[in-house]
Amino acid sequence: MAVTRTPLIAGNWKLNLDHLQAIAFVQKLAWSLGDAKHDFAAAEVAVFPPFTDLRSVQTLVSSDKLPIAFGAQDLSEHDSGAYTGEISGAFLAKLECSYVIIGHSERRTLHNETDEVVGAKVQAALRHNLVPIICVGETADDLEKHGPSAVPVAQLRAALAGVTGAADVVVAYEPVWAIGSGQAATPEQAEQVAAALRTVLVETLGEDVAAKTRILYGGSVKAANIAGFMREPNVDGALVGGASLDLDEFASIVRFPQHVGL
Ligand code: PEP
Repeated sequence: MAVTRTPLIAGNWKLNLDHLQAIAFVQKLAWSLGDAKHDFAAAEVAVFPPFTDLRSVQTLVSSDKLPIAFGAQDLSEHDSGAYTGEISGAFLAKLECSYVIIGHSERRTLHNETDEVVGAKVQAALRHNLVPIICVGETADDLEKHGPSAVPVAQLRAALAGVTGAADVVVAYEPVWAIGSGQAATPEQAEQVAAALRTVLVETLGEDVAAKTRILYGGSVKAANIAGFMREPNVDGALVGGASLDLDEFASIVRFPQHVGL
């Protein structure tokens, strides 16, 4: 029997929205999706606010029982200790985060996160039952020199080194040249790399886990182009940056099953 993967639409807010703005945004998003009779079983929605918003989002989601998941944009590879400014996976788990984004290209380039650090952070997330959203992707230079799949495949292998068994992870394929550029990959490009990444999942985590693991596409996703990605067999959702800050646009992306006839 074919495994069905529930699509995930994840909004990475980056360094935007304070905790009061976060409360208003999440409340309105829930209303908007509720009014539109969004089927959350057909497409899961998750938001990734800055750390300082998480307690407010948790309180709102839990008190109003909103069907919206949330997570952090990063975590420490360490659980506790003398690491000024770091945030432990243990703290995120206490805040009822479901997910944590790891290895976003902005962390890799602006904060010098190596493949080893990304791997250690994946293990830290799994220690605390957080689902890591492991970001991989090639730069325009990598694309020219090595083709589309080589760098994302190598990054995923490194991120999963040391991960065994039935690990619950999500992979986000985000070509760096497509992030924030307005120039998304084509659905065919995304599918080609997603298929290669699924092969890595089969080799590292086994067939059954690979078949259940969601692979997202990220990079200039909008309501106008989500349909093409979601029609691809190995693309199971989207990691959305800029468009996740526009309530109507993000709600429309989440509601892709209603407007793309899937
Ligand atoms: C991102 O930063 O993860 C991202 C996909 O950004 P954007 O949607 O703005 O390209």
